[in-house]
Amino acid sequence: MPGKILIADPVATNRIVLKVKLSAGHFDVSQAATASEALRLSQTLQPDLILISNELPDLSADQLIDALRARPGLPDIPVAVLLADAADADTRLRLMSRADAVIARPAHDALLLARLRGLLFRRNSLRELRQQVSTGTAGFAEDHAPLGHPGKVAIVAPEGAPATLLLRGLDAHLAHRLHLVDARRPFPALSKGRAPDAVLLYLADLPRGDALRLLAELRAAPDTRHATTIAMLDAEDEETAAQLLNAGLDDVLLGVTALPELAARIDRLVTHAQANDRLRAHLTDGLRASVTDPLTGLYNRRYAIPYLERLCTARTPHEGRTPFAVMLADLDHFKRINDSYGHAAGDRVLEHVAERLRGALRPQDVVARIGGEEFLLIFPDLCPSEARIAADRLCRCIAEMPIHVSGAPEPITVTVSIGMVMGGDAKDPEGAINGAKALLSQADHALYASKAQGRNTVTFRSARPAA
Ligand code: GH3
Ligand code: MG
Ligand code: MG
Repeated sequence: MPGKILIADPVATNRIVLKVKLSAGHFDVSQAATASEALRLSQTLQPDLILISNELPDLSADQLIDALRARPGLPDIPVAVLLADAADADTRLRLMSRADAVIARPAHDALLLARLRGLLFRRNSLRELRQQVSTGTAGFAEDHAPLGHPGKVAIVAPEGAPATLLLRGLDAHLAHRLHLVDARRPFPALSKGRAPDAVLLYLADLPRGDALRLLAELRAAPDTRHATTIAMLDAEDEETAAQLLNAGLDDVLLGVTALPELAARIDRLVTHAQANDRLRAHLTDGLRASVTDPLTGLYNRRYAIPYLERLCTARTPHEGRTPFAVMLADLDHFKRINDSYGHAAGDRVLEHVAERLRGALRPQDVVARIGGEEFLLIFPDLCPSEARIAADRLCRCIAEMPIHVSGAPEPITVTVSIGMVMGGDAKDPEGAINGAKALLSQADHALYASKAQGRNTVTFRSARPAA
């Protein structure tokens, strides 16, 4: 079942016709004849989407939307309005800035289903995003917080007078930055500068195939794939509109739309796009934080161990397996540093050491802090002799430069002991002998050997157990 829809319409025959249409789209349909009934049912039934008429007897459609949004648990249910032609300009404008979709009556069957499916798809994606971020209701409040900066809107239209007029007309109604982009060559213009929050596709003069291709390009390009998209089409282009919506278009306006209404619609889309961007940024920050050590900014164990596991079973297409080096580096007598200079100074030393290790590596190498003063270093695609040289260099780069820490009376000399082992054995294609666990255990033994030899040294150990 694609979803539960609640219809609110005062006319019984309208409700019946709608129910038939929506049931054909496999929606589970409930009905209300008044706004108050719709409010009550929306609470008890928890529909996935509400489709309302703008001719309800007890509340106007915009009042009903406001009432629904004010109810706890309901604010993110999409509301679509079926609008009678006779609606005056003020009503249309209020609905354009409030409803998730405004659909003209009589509703074209395929277009209606495409619009509702699109709304449900976006609502479910937003829910998933919110769940991942775990912001709950606090996240929702943030979505609707006033935005500090204007959005960026690209108007994609065939070059010519109508496009210029559209730009000028919208500019007078919107605080966002507007850019005109030629629909025949939208790229690279669309990739320049900050990614647009919304893209208005003025498709009135474009063949259907071109419109679909254009939308597909927008959805595929990294700079535009998160932008919300709205298309303007000729009044009779309902089939194209349905196809575009099914292909991922967010909103559509058919026929002539007054500029203030169009501007209200675009403003709404920009707000949505920016709210989604903030959620995505939250998610990225959260993911990054979960694999990062807060003190040093290095990766942590949660990142490094799965990375090593992947490397143990990876193969290159031609060579099968390439050797890689695994090193465990542990600061020597670190406890003494804490004891002599204090824990805070110890922290600063850890930060400096992390910085030096990071600076000594190639871009493809990985360094992680996997314990208090213990680091795991992974060097893909490195032969044993290169690995020895790299390990010796690391030891020297820590020992040779004492660390200046504010508050400490003198620069602090610190050394590191390293245990090293090679992975990527060609005779061990599945990583059975020297999988991540075995490699780490061997590197640990090698590290202890370095400590036993007096510290500030490297010990190399074979991953293969003695025959
Ligand atoms: P060894 O040469 O044998 O490795 O001696 P060590 O003193 O470095 O090793 P030990 O395991 O005895 O002590 C490690 C110390 O590292 C003890 C602990 O207080 C300190 N430590 C662990 N995590 C942190 C941290 O985040 N900040 C600071 N300042 N100290 C830490
Ligand atoms: Mg130590
Ligand atoms: Mg240690």
